[in-house]
Amino acid sequence: CGVFGIYQHSQSAALTYYGLVALQHRGQEAAGIASTDGDKMYSHKGLGLLSDVFKQGQLENLLGHAAIGHVRYSTAGANTPQNAQPITLTTHARNFAIAHNGNLVNAKWLRIRLEEEGSLFQTTTDTEVIAHLIAKANAPDLAGAVAAAAKQIQGGFSVVILANDELIAVRDPLGLRPMVLGQLDDGYVVASESCALETIGATLMRDVEPGELIRMGPNGLTSQRFAERRQRSMCTFEHVYFARPDSDVDGWNVHTVRKRLGKILAQRHPADGDIVIGVPDSSISAAAGYSEESQLPNEMGLIKNKYIARTFIQPSQELRDIGVQLKLNAVRSIVDGKRVVLIDDSIVRGTTSRRIVRLLRSAGAREVHVRISSPPYVSSCHYGIDTATTDQLIASTHNEDEICKLIEADSLAFLTVAELMEAFGYAEGEKVPFCNACFTRSYPTELIDQELKNTVH
Ligand code: 5GP
Ligand code: SF4
Ligand code: MG
Repeated sequence: CGVFGIYQHSQSAALTYYGLVALQHRGQEAAGIASTDGDKMYSHKGLGLLSDVFKQGQLENLLGHAAIGHVRYSTAGANTPQNAQPITLTTHARNFAIAHNGNLVNAKWLRIRLEEEGSLFQTTTDTEVIAHLIAKANAPDLAGAVAAAAKQIQGGFSVVILANDELIAVRDPLGLRPMVLGQLDDGYVVASESCALETIGATLMRDVEPGELIRMGPNGLTSQRFAERRQRSMCTFEHVYFARPDSDVDGWNVHTVRKRLGKILAQRHPADGDIVIGVPDSSISAAAGYSEESQLPNEMGLIKNKYIARTFIQPSQELRDIGVQLKLNAVRSIVDGKRVVLIDDSIVRGTTSRRIVRLLRSAGAREVHVRISSPPYVSSCHYGIDTATTDQLIASTHNEDEICKLIEADSLAFLTVAELMEAFGYAEGEKVPFCNACFTRSYPTELIDQELKNTVH
C-alpha cells in the first residue's frame, strides 16, 4: 500500500490526490482521502484506481488544511469497499482517520483480545486493530494514544493519523516499511516514497526513523520515540521490485540500487547472449546495469502497454493468457535470431517468466537466458508485500535447475543474498540493516498470528 499525509496547506486534498497518483504503483485495488478543516472531517474512498474513485467534483468536497490518503494493495483482509482506507473512528473521547501501509504479525491476537473487551469491528483489516487500540488507549492526548498503540502492534507499519488539529505519523521500530518526511511552504508532508513529495513540489527532509512518532500541528513539528533504537530491518524487496526507481528509500536511490544489482548479475552470473532485454517496468534499471557491465546492447525487445492496470487482468485462464499479450509484446525485428539475456527482478510464482520466455521464442529468439536481480523468493512476506503463500512460491518447492526447466529457459541464475547486500555496500558476513526474510526464511520478528493459526485452527 501507499500512504500520504499533509499538514497545513489550503489545497491539502488536491495535493494528497497528486501524491497518491505518484504512489499508485503501491496499490491499485482501492483508494481514499480524508481531510479536516479543524472542525469537521471529510472523506471519500472506494474500490479501484484513484481515477475510478475520484470523479469530477469529489475532491472539492474534501475541505480543509490537512489531509491523509491511501492506495490499497490487499495484504490483510478482502478487497471490499468497507476495507478501503482511511478508516474513520469516532468515540466519545476521540475522532480520527487512519491509513496504514504494512502488515502486522499480531493483529489476530490483538483483535481477539479487543473483541473480548467489547470492541466491535467493521472491517477485516489490521488497520482497524490499530484504530481500536488508539481509541481505547488511556492517554491524555492523541499522540500518547498512538504511541501506546504503536508499542502493542508488531510487524511492518507506516501509519498516518489525522485529527481535527493534528497529523501524526509513525513508522515500525524495525523500519520494515518505508516512510519519508518533507516540507512544502510552511507545512509538512509524509509519504511512503519520496517520489510523492517531488510530484507535489515538496522538499525531502529525511526518512521517518524506525520507532519514531512525528506530530504535525499548529505549533509546527515535534518528534518522539515510541520504541528504543535497535538494529534496523528495512525491506530489500522495496528496492528489488516494489518502490519507484525515482524514489530514495532510506537514503538509497532505487534506480541506482537496481542498476548495481544488474552489474553484479553480469559479473557473477554472465550469459552468452547477443542482446539484453529487461522486463518493463521494474527490471529496466537492472537491465541497464547488466548491459553496461557486460557491454551487450540493451534493447527494447519487450514493450508494455501503459494503459493496462493489474486489476484489468481477469481471472479465467483463457482471458489471462490474452491478458499477458495485451500487457507485453515482444518486438520481432529486435529479437529474431538473437540469443537474449532476459533480466527480471524476481520470480514469485513463475508464471510470468514462462510466458515471457515463450513470447520471446515465438518472436524468433534463438536462446533465452534468464537472469534474476534478486535471490530465489522462498518464503512468504508477513510484513506487507503480497506475494502469495509459501506453497505457491516456485522457489520454495523447486531448485534452480527445476525452475529453469519449468520456465522453459536455456539457462537461469539468481543473485545470492550476499550479492544483493553487496549492492548496498555490505561485505559478506557483515551485519546488515535489512530484512531478507523472503530470501532467507529468517524473520526479524516473531510470527505470532502464524503460531495462532497452527494452534487454534
Ligand atoms: P511470477 O513469478 O509470480 O509469475 O511473477 C513475477 C513477476 O511479478 C516479476 O516480474 C515481478 O516484477 C512481479 N512481482 C514481484 N513481486 C510481486 C508482487 O508482490 N506482486 C505482484 N503482483 N507482482 C510481483
Ligand atoms: Fe520485504 Fe521480504 Fe522482508 Fe517482506 S520478507 S519485508 S518482502 S524483505
Ligand atoms: Mg515484472
